[in-house]
Amino acid sequence: MITNNTQTYHKHYADLTSERGSIDLRIRHEIYKEEDKTIYVPDMPDDKLNFWKWLAWVQNRDLEFIRVTSKKFPDYPFTKPALVAFSGGLESVFTAKTVFNGDIFCLDGVPDSERQIEGLLAIHGADLGYACTYIGCENDGLDNDDFDLEPTTQYSKDTMIECTFDFIQRWNNYAYPNVVQSAVRYLNKIDILKKIIDTTGGLTFHSCFNTTPDVPWCGKCFKCMIIFHFLMVLEEYDLSKEIPLTKETHEKYCEEYRQYLKDGKDPFFTLKDWDFLRDRFGYDILKVRLGGKCV
Ligand SMILES: [Zn+2]
Repeated sequence: MITNNTQTYHKHYADLTSERGSIDLRIRHEIYKEEDKTIYVPDMPDDKLNFWKWLAWVQNRDLEFIRVTSKKFPDYPFTKPALVAFSGGLESVFTAKTVFNGDIFCLDGVPDSERQIEGLLAIHGADLGYACTYIGCENDGLDNDDFDLEPTTQYSKDTMIECTFDFIQRWNNYAYPNVVQSAVRYLNKIDILKKIIDTTGGLTFHSCFNTTPDVPWCGKCFKCMIIFHFLMVLEEYDLSKEIPLTKETHEKYCEEYRQYLKDGKDPFFTLKDWDFLRDRFGYDILKVRLGGKCV
């Protein structure tokens, strides 16, 4: 972990200090909530308001934004150089260890309805006064080439819009001069995993949805599934044994992938990871039996 010249923040998702941060968190929250039809905003310029209108539009929300003209639109504080917003996962570890030695931010207690984390990290980093907040968005998330950000029934409000490059560019225009950047934008997950193993010799991170101090890898979530198969592709068989991937979990995600191959629907941008393994490495998860033997 990072030890020199760093400051670590543990914050609850709603734990903000600036007026601007509170305003942005509220607007974002109301866009992701189902019921509101009208959102009251400060008197911000059109190009700023267009950011929120765009976010509502891609989320399929039919919302009216009304400016409250008596309220001045505040800026974020702009007092510190840079922050690594840290989830503990693969991309965050890589960013913190190899690219940048900055302050670290851990976000606690995010409600399910707000689980897209990138927008929250952007707000929190700016709220703390950082000129630049680094997040661990890798190439899979930021390469929009395969994605159609038009709102459709497929890209419902559950779609992970906030990990796209489009979102980050628009946020940066909105919050300027406080910006968000990814230092791993041109690397994909498997390249990052290989670099971490090469430099640290092991699985020195926990990229599991259910991780606890005693059980770093649950063996039942999507993250365990993907890291397990990445390790198989990299022929790191000993390390793969540290992830107790169950047969049921493997079969469950294989079944989802079979469905995706039929209908092409990939709302969380995760199923294309299996295409990527097959096309680039010839590794087809549908032909894998646990234990690493192909049939
Ligand atoms: Zn897990």
